[in-house]
Amino acid sequence: MNFAFPPTDPVSLPIAGGDSRFPVRRIYCVGKNYADHVIEMGGDIERSEPIFFTKAAETLVQSGANIPYPPHTDNLHYEVELVVAMGPDGVFGYGVGIDMTRRDIQAKAKAKGGPWARAKNFHLSAPCSALTPADKVDLSSAHIVLRKNGDIVQHSALNKLIWSIEEIIDYLTKDMDLQAGDLIYTGTPAGVGPVKAGDELSGGIEGLERITVRFV
Ligand code: MN
Repeated sequence: MNFAFPPTDPVSLPIAGGDSRFPVRRIYCVGKNYADHVIEMGGDIERSEPIFFTKAAETLVQSGANIPYPPHTDNLHYEVELVVAMGPDGVFGYGVGIDMTRRDIQAKAKAKGGPWARAKNFHLSAPCSALTPADKVDLSSAHIVLRKNGDIVQHSALNKLIWSIEEIIDYLTKDMDLQAGDLIYTGTPAGVGPVKAGDELSGGIEGLERITVRFV
């Protein structure tokens, strides 16, 4: 193949316990998937259809990174989420992600019925931990926790997802297209809030690698 200019390198994430890497294709994100978060955002918890949006693979950030505070926002929010990584034969593994959101831009988009791209799909908006293979962990009784500067700001049992992992995968498979390399950010519990330069976020789920990033 003869490219007009050099193509970018594939985006990938580390895999816990090995030296191979997970090649990332696309990032799907689920909105409104914990009732307590839907309520805090002033929404309706009636279960109808799941809400999806996307981030580009290039928005991923690995654990340990320093993230420059993004432009055009005064209200950058964290949303800690379980990340499901799809392989050739179904679920490959799991990670802990943070769906960074320019909440002020999102609020304007919601008010106008406009797209969320600028609110969600901006540079370095998708921190994600190393991935743990699915056969190495049991998440059935696990909890998700986010700490800001050491203090717990988000905490929930994972089994409080409105749409289960299986339901999300089934929906995406039928409605969109789900392939090996795709990541699914499965939604955030209550407690979302702002970060500022100097803050550190650290998210964890029992049995999975942590995601820790600092804003500068
Ligand atoms: Mn989210």
